Amino acid sequence: MRAALLEAVGRLTMIEAETPTIEEPDQLLIQVKRVGVCGSEVHAFCGTHPYRRPPAILGHETAGQVVAIGPAVTRFKEGDRVMVDPLWPCGQCAECRAGYPNLCFYKKMLGTAEWPGAFGEYIVAPEPTIFPLPDNMSYLQGSLIEPLMVGVHVARMADLKARESVAVLGTGSIGGMVTGVCHALGAGPIITADSHQHCLDAARERLGATHDFLLPDVDPVDAIREVTGGRGVDLAVVAADDVSLVAQAVEMTKPRGRVVLVALLTEAPLKLRAWDIISKEISVIGSIISDHSDVHQAIELATSGQVDVEAVVTHVLPIEETQRGVEMAHTKDDGAIKVTFSFEPA
Ligand SMILES: [Zn+2]
Ligand SMILES: [Zn+2]
Repeated sequence: MRAALLEAVGRLTMIEAETPTIEEPDQLLIQVKRVGVCGSEVHAFCGTHPYRRPPAILGHETAGQVVAIGPAVTRFKEGDRVMVDPLWPCGQCAECRAGYPNLCFYKKMLGTAEWPGAFGEYIVAPEPTIFPLPDNMSYLQGSLIEPLMVGVHVARMADLKARESVAVLGTGSIGGMVTGVCHALGAGPIITADSHQHCLDAARERLGATHDFLLPDVDPVDAIREVTGGRGVDLAVVAADDVSLVAQAVEMTKPRGRVVLVALLTEAPLKLRAWDIISKEISVIGSIISDHSDVHQAIELATSGQVDVEAVVTHVLPIEETQRGVEMAHTKDDGAIKVTFSFEPA
């Protein structure tokens, strides 16, 4: 099969790879139709991801068609249109048993050497990670369910309620999805800040952001205080890889508010004045990927049109162009937000 291999940091190469085979009775073979580039692929490409390392076939935001099933598969048949939850937990450990499969220490993630991803034309996945695509959902939309799930998980971790005010710092694809979910749940105002105007435009025009501020021209703390009458927001979400945003998020959050960190801030230690957290009794919450319980809500939000998942899609490229596509997702050049790949000839 055709596959784009992350050979080394900064180098994606097309190879002829062995097509994966069903090895357990509950597994399915899926032909990839669409796959998106996530911030975590960018991190892998740059050598800054905690576990996505070369050599590996990346790609975990995907939808495709079932081409073969193992004998124990009961919910799917050949030809079904599906999306994949890239989280494959062990199911046995204390975290799994407590209902936190995303925190499983033994989990496999799609798009790693352990579980080759959808930058290859075929993937194998166990049945519990597969979800049917509703008839009215395209493969492209299906490939966006995973980033939407990340947004759903952020809102759940924050225990977001209707009419709460939200600041989303960084409106790339994850920040965009967070914005869309917060809007769908009735939050507002939703104030966004980003260093790219085209990212802000997508969030405001199609995902429900009410205000936006271009960084670094505007001090987001001052701007957000002004919008909220000096009090600050109920929830600030850090969705961009810039550690300085964390202290700003704490500053712009009102007493008893929450700060959720969802960007993979792996590169530098935080600089924070603890007193800013203590004196306002702010909760700083980590949010990592999502779990199967977020899938159904994400599919519902997308199919009902409450979140316009395609708002972040800017490029559909042939799989041969992964090097250029991932670089673009990194630099946000050419108006890029969400870059996706297709295996079909253009
Ligand atoms: Zn992702
Ligand atoms: Zn586990």
